[in-house]
Amino acid sequence: MIKKKTKIVATISDRNCSVPFLTDLYKAGMNVARLNTAHQTTEDSLMIINNIRQISDKIAILIDTKGPEIRTNNTDNALEVNTGDVVYIKGAPGTRSYDNVVCLSYEGVVSDVPTGSRLLIDDGDIGLLVKSKEKDYLVCEALNQGIIRGRKSVNIPGIEVKLPSLTSKDREYVHLAVDEDIDFIAHSFVRNKNDVLQIQDILDEHNSRVKIIAKIENQSGVDNIDEIIDHTYGIMVARGDLAIEIPYERIPGVQKMITDKCIEKRKPVIIATQMLHSMINNPRPTRAEVSDIANAIFSNTDAIMLSGETAYGNYPLESLQTMTTVACEVEKTKEPIHDIPVGIIHNEISSFLIKAAVRGAVDLSAKAILADSMSGRTIRSLSAYRGNRMIWAKCYDRRVVRELALSYGVNANYMDPTETSHEFVLNAVESLLKDGAVLSDDLLVVIAGNFGHNTGASYIEIGTVKNLLNK
Ligand code: PEP
Repeated sequence: MIKKKTKIVATISDRNCSVPFLTDLYKAGMNVARLNTAHQTTEDSLMIINNIRQISDKIAILIDTKGPEIRTNNTDNALEVNTGDVVYIKGAPGTRSYDNVVCLSYEGVVSDVPTGSRLLIDDGDIGLLVKSKEKDYLVCEALNQGIIRGRKSVNIPGIEVKLPSLTSKDREYVHLAVDEDIDFIAHSFVRNKNDVLQIQDILDEHNSRVKIIAKIENQSGVDNIDEIIDHTYGIMVARGDLAIEIPYERIPGVQKMITDKCIEKRKPVIIATQMLHSMINNPRPTRAEVSDIANAIFSNTDAIMLSGETAYGNYPLESLQTMTTVACEVEKTKEPIHDIPVGIIHNEISSFLIKAAVRGAVDLSAKAILADSMSGRTIRSLSAYRGNRMIWAKCYDRRVVRELALSYGVNANYMDPTETSHEFVLNAVESLLKDGAVLSDDLLVVIAGNFGHNTGASYIEIGTVKNLLNK
């Protein structure tokens, strides 16, 4: 069994999603499979979902929406530009780009974007400066040499475009997530709580338990981070777009600020994009990539993410193995968090016991913390301390097992509900012993509740496996 505490989200595409391949990724440490729907049809996605579900019911599935993004339209000929060239930008969804006119998927670009703004195309590879406006065009100057191809991303830093948060394709995918009982929807370009609530309303209409992860990838998302965290299950720091929308030198600080806020509110946080980018083409990581993964873990993220590395790279399995190896090593030298403001935690008694359980497990060198859970709330609170002992969560709901695939240091398994907490301890410890996960002299910290499954923790018991079984 891999002892990794940091969770890994791996992006899976329809080009590379066979059951043997996904099995290898799972064995190498993949906890969550991400489907980037900007590049998929619903048929592709259903095939991937079906394959993932053949492997393990512990792998969570995350559907990533397209969101209010702008792209260049298709073209018959890519446009090669040199520094200083004039390029015309037109907002014309569905129209092919021609000559030196680049048509965009966003109709309102000419009216919304003022002179002096910059358009960054293809993940920022080509910069255009808006010099003037004509009735139907932005007249731009190329800031560097490059090739403008069709279907490439267009970012306009500092400009809040008036696109609706949910595209029709996104709506289709929200419904697919509901029908397929998917675990997470990661919504792109979330600017404020209303962008989240638009999806939540659809989920509520269908009594769906799908959880929303807000992708923070522009300045508005950063500015409104507190209200966004309060309305979502978790956050993804989507550094690909974020580093184009805001100056890239601000990314490390923003990443740390968002991680700290998520810990305080006991919400899972994912650090995403370019963590092992060079491994799309190379079998080994750069030193900087290893340090980037380590920095995210030292800064207490729950999860780290692979994008192109697993979706279309030449070394997908090696990328996953590299993340796992680096994570396991870094976690050995990492200090737990000693105190987190109690803030919004559900109940004072549980909060007190959760903190004491993590502290006890560390100070007494216990093998692990054992806890049961109905909703996952106690487990996420335990996880927030980033202790250096595993949290073995016994969940009475299979969906919660998968949701905890995003929480640091948690190994969740399903267990049939028990009548009393005494039965929970006996059943759980017996099964751990049977599976070889513990030996009879191992010390365990048990945190459980005596007043019903929804009341939270009411006691801690610390003992060896044999004493817990004999009491
Ligand atoms: C990102 O921009 O970092 C990201 C995760 O989003 P996408 O891959 O959908 O562009």
